[in-house]
Amino acid sequence: LEKNNLGDKRIVDLEADSEFRFEVDFKAQVQIKLVKGTAEIFGTELAEGVEYTFSGRKAAVYTWHEYTANETPMTSYLNTHLAIQQLRDMARSSNELGPRVLVIGPHDVGKTSLCKIMASYAFRQGEKPLYVSLDTAEGSITMPGAVTATAISHLIDIEEGFGSSATTAASMGSTTMPLAYYYGYENPSENVKMYKLVVSRLAHTVKSRLAADPESRTSGFIIDTPGLINQVGYELIWHAIEEFSVNVVVVLGHERLYSDMMKTYKNQDNISIVKLNKSGGVVERDKQFKVQLQRSKIQEYFYGTPKCELSPYSMLVNFGDINVWRVGEAIAPSSALPMMVGTKDSETEVVKVDSFDMCLHSVMAILDADDAEHENKLLQCSVVGFIYISDVNEEKKKMTILSPSPGRLPRRHVLMGSFKWMET
Ligand code: ADP
Repeated sequence: LEKNNLGDKRIVDLEADSEFRFEVDFKAQVQIKLVKGTAEIFGTELAEGVEYTFSGRKAAVYTWHEYTANETPMTSYLNTHLAIQQLRDMARSSNELGPRVLVIGPHDVGKTSLCKIMASYAFRQGEKPLYVSLDTAEGSITMPGAVTATAISHLIDIEEGFGSSATTAASMGSTTMPLAYYYGYENPSENVKMYKLVVSRLAHTVKSRLAADPESRTSGFIIDTPGLINQVGYELIWHAIEEFSVNVVVVLGHERLYSDMMKTYKNQDNISIVKLNKSGGVVERDKQFKVQLQRSKIQEYFYGTPKCELSPYSMLVNFGDINVWRVGEAIAPSSALPMMVGTKDSETEVVKVDSFDMCLHSVMAILDADDAEHENKLLQCSVVGFIYISDVNEEKKKMTILSPSPGRLPRRHVLMGSFKWMET
């Protein structure tokens, strides 16, 4: 049963192995209710009779229902999950690290949706895999600009996907806070060296967490990536495979990428390469939709969602009580720069921001660093939370910051990237 905000209702009869696909604008709302039968959204089952509300979303309600035809790639997605599940069972019998799955492909082929589906199926079989996101444009679990990892320890929410940034904000500082490192830019090619650095840090921490967590260890992890199909993209794929010790590479919707991966890893029988088709339902999201998605992620982090409302705290911070860092000199895409000596190093060197004016309207990551931490070490620190600079008063030497938690700024070192935001 579908109902839009004009109150129009309609009943959709879903045939087996078919999908009801819908797109909702950010300004609109649609409610969906499963009247009878069984159905799921990206792997999470809908409860009968419950009304789910969507806004700014593109998704599909799918039903298995004794399938006969093969009109969606869902059967191949399920089979891939089952093969990965066997690796988990093997890992369990020998108490080893479970499968390390990397999902790659161009933009908008359904990578994130596939990760959700595989994570949900794993969860439904009693597993507790980690979901790792290297997609800095999207900010699927914390904020745009961050690379993150989170344990799938509860059902993936139908309405909010992998947990909204609001749930992250609500968990700021607690142990359920996802693991995050801050890169600060949308696209990995803006600063490849730094992107690799944060990915390596995340990989290292994920592996050591798993080593210490018997519940998650054999479930392994699933890594979501941004669209990586150019030369830089290949370099980043190889880097991620190496750092996360990936043993299953899923190539979604790209023939050439698949054959290139097959060639590269043909002599390594410890890495399996799987090819899957893109679903006909995947929607291309234009630039405007993506910008809106980023904005709504930032907004949600501070103000929450209709389901989990938050009221952020506004506080005054003296210039002397905060150290704002940014990376390198003004960063231009490397193609726009003549090969200059020294530019490479500045890619991973932090510079202290003295002109606080430039901080206005920036989103910043609070680093888990002691006050006395050496500046060369700051980029290796994980993120404890995010703040937003809503006002800068040069005369009084104070800034007004917005934070999801009350009290003082928990740490003094914060990292600024390129994300700006205007409260609406
Ligand atoms: P990628 O991670 O490759 O960029 P996504 O998984 O984010 O791709 O999918 C792109 C968009 O298409 C998203 O808005 C997603 O919700 C939507 N989408 C994916 N699969 C389907 C489907 N089967 N039906 C309808 N919408 C879908």
